[in-house]
Amino acid sequence: MIRKQCCGRFLIVAGVAASIVVWLTTSASAQPTQPAYRADRILIMPKAGINRTALNNFHLARKGEVLRTFDGIGYLQILRVPKGETVPSLIAQYQQSGLVEFAEPDYIGQIFSTTPNDPKYLDGTLWGLNNTGQNGGTADADIDAPEGWDVLTSASNIVVAVLDTGVRYTHEDLAANMWVNPNDGSHGWNVLAGNNDPSDDSGHGTLVAGVLGAVGNNGKGVTGVAWRVQIMACKCFNSFGIGSISSVITGMDYAKTNGARIINASWGFTNSLALSNAVYSLRDSNIIIVAACGNSAADIDLNPTYPASYHFDNVVTVASITRSNTLATSSNFGANDVDLAAPGEGIYSTFAANDNFYSTQSGTSFAAPYVSGACALLMAQYPSDTPQEIISRLLNSTDSLSSLAGKCRTGGCLNLRKALRTIRVATIPTGSGEPFQLRVSGGLNRTCAVEATTNLISWSPVFTNTASTNGTFDFTDSQSTNWPQRFFRATASP
Ligand code: CA
Ligand code: CA
Repeated sequence: MIRKQCCGRFLIVAGVAASIVVWLTTSASAQPTQPAYRADRILIMPKAGINRTALNNFHLARKGEVLRTFDGIGYLQILRVPKGETVPSLIAQYQQSGLVEFAEPDYIGQIFSTTPNDPKYLDGTLWGLNNTGQNGGTADADIDAPEGWDVLTSASNIVVAVLDTGVRYTHEDLAANMWVNPNDGSHGWNVLAGNNDPSDDSGHGTLVAGVLGAVGNNGKGVTGVAWRVQIMACKCFNSFGIGSISSVITGMDYAKTNGARIINASWGFTNSLALSNAVYSLRDSNIIIVAACGNSAADIDLNPTYPASYHFDNVVTVASITRSNTLATSSNFGANDVDLAAPGEGIYSTFAANDNFYSTQSGTSFAAPYVSGACALLMAQYPSDTPQEIISRLLNSTDSLSSLAGKCRTGGCLNLRKALRTIRVATIPTGSGEPFQLRVSGGLNRTCAVEATTNLISWSPVFTNTASTNGTFDFTDSQSTNWPQRFFRATASP
């Protein structure tokens, strides 16, 4: 079995006489580009059985220096390109000489990288994704996005509804990731106007959208937590950020009807039975609500805000941390009602002023979409998980922070790397006398080893398999009926 290492750090060179270079990349949308080549070298392979003296004379006549000959690769040669000569011209001369099987440029390749080329990621502005201590921050006060992107960058099949002030869906760094309504070609719904133009006249919703899903690796602006995703815009709040229960419920209904899997709720209300019923109905449709916990520096266990304070198992509530791993001064908190924290201060993202405008803002509103983007990637990676299982992966993989102790249920911050790498092992119910069965949910194309022990000290591998299209595989312990009690776990690397 060939172990597949974190989505393809390979350069495969195939072919016998003709050399073909294939770059594997996890980014489905990465466009193949004409490979660049070294200007100072070419590669030739002499024809089998040719007169070596003739070839050497041909080299000499062109002042071509043989830098190396690989006897074990058909006498393949690296030639230095002489001064005044060009690679295409020299290659043409060798190809026409009749002396070589092939002559080709010395192409430049690179290891697969999950570093997106978006300038504001590269210059360190997006500290919440990767923090190396730039701009006075604390190194690793971030969600470990680049390490998570080694596993997966795209949630292109997942629809995330942004119920907010609208989204500037024409923005250069959002347009390609906007959901498209197959019925009318729109990108969502304007609840306030009652039409299908959910434009953003505030900027808040556009900023939220960029955090979770600005187009990654397009050479522009920023990148979202998910490089590819489908953002559905539902305008439920006006340009002053004011909305009503009926507006958000209408937005929720639109999201549910049109296939959203996640709703980002960077807003809150005092209680409403209508709202709690609406959120509970989303639970029946397997939709996750990611809720910001608010910016009043208050304990929402005592002063609840909704949907953040609902204890439904499809609601994830998010506080805001700073680039120094402290709870943001204005962030609400709650040992019961808040689940985890995410970066939320000094967050640079897409903005609604025009199609290439970006802005920096702070608040739990911008922490929640980090979690929404992570949920989208998790749903893509673990397609057979229930919303509750997705949430459990999120909450069981946080980075514990002393600043969050007693401030939220997990006492920790979102960690995309850990969340995307969790393996879930569950028993499959079997009848009496039938072999014990396990289902390993390790994520798409991930190779996992099932290990067993009788003493919880020494573990032995008993089965290895690769989770395929639904991210899971099953293991049957055929020896279970005549063995003493055994314990199982599953591991994968990386
Ligand atoms: Ca990190
Ligand atoms: Ca971008």
